[in-house]
Amino acid sequence: MFELKDDWQFELPERYFTLEDYEGGTARWCPGCGDLAVLTAVQKILRDAQMPPENTVCVSGIGCSSRFPHYMKTYGFHGLHGRPLPVACGIKSRRPELDVWVATGDGDCCSIGTGHWLHAVRYNMDMVVMLFDNSVYGLTKKQTSPTSPKGMETNTHPKGAWLPPLDPLAAMLGFTNTSFVAQTVDWNPAHLQATLHAAWQHEGLGFVRILQRCPQFTATVYEDLQKDPSKLLLLTGEGQPRLEPSVARLFPNQRAHLVGDLAGARALAGAADGVPIGVLFRDPSRPRYEEFTAMGLRMSAEQKLAALSRELDRFAV
Ligand code: SF4
Repeated sequence: MFELKDDWQFELPERYFTLEDYEGGTARWCPGCGDLAVLTAVQKILRDAQMPPENTVCVSGIGCSSRFPHYMKTYGFHGLHGRPLPVACGIKSRRPELDVWVATGDGDCCSIGTGHWLHAVRYNMDMVVMLFDNSVYGLTKKQTSPTSPKGMETNTHPKGAWLPPLDPLAAMLGFTNTSFVAQTVDWNPAHLQATLHAAWQHEGLGFVRILQRCPQFTATVYEDLQKDPSKLLLLTGEGQPRLEPSVARLFPNQRAHLVGDLAGARALAGAADGVPIGVLFRDPSRPRYEEFTAMGLRMSAEQKLAALSRELDRFAV
């Protein structure tokens, strides 16, 4: 493993990470659960980029998808319901050099965690936020979530959900300081990975809503999109996830979209002629709060004390 050089110095071999280096415990999601595809996509992105696992942190709240950190061999924090984003922002503000991934579900993010969601978006810290949207509370066995379609029968609404669902894309495109919004589906691994990769490369909060299958409780919610890809609208053009022609051909319905066009993105989020997949909006110029919170992080204790004394001296009489 080590090579002994003539001058008696050790030369460490370069580390090469395989998928195994990012694989944590055996995933205990149901067979066919879309969460498995997302887990694989993230592991492949990190492997392809040769990211040291010890520089990556996965943070989650509560829900099926929030078991994500357990299945990654990186640092992780399985937090409280609706609270992955304050934890992720805390990590990023003190350790801005770390690569932060957030796994949150529609119940976790869009209900109890909504207050944290909109402020984390405003902070725009450099992280990937993956919204696993299966339109139901799966872990607690089928209660209506904010994104459950109207009329969907659940344990809390046996005669069907009463209210129209919250649209996470429309919400994101209305929040202050939003810098990246994308949508993808778990059943197309190439588009899923390419979209998460685009969010990961973005400097700022990269939000990806993943239409995620839950065969256990909402098997039919995305069934029509799976069976008929023409119901999806593949966004194309500069800044969109890079796809092989063989993958792009699977989507008969395509539209060129400028990623900086906010009004166009809002129109797409509510489009009746197809569910958009790709990057709806991106603005890399938006301010990032970790640039502010990281100020002075590298100062020594002596430097901090000297700065404090200087400030206090201003009040000397
Ligand atoms: Fe996945 Fe649904 Fe099973 Fe939860 S209940 S692990 S979301 S299939």
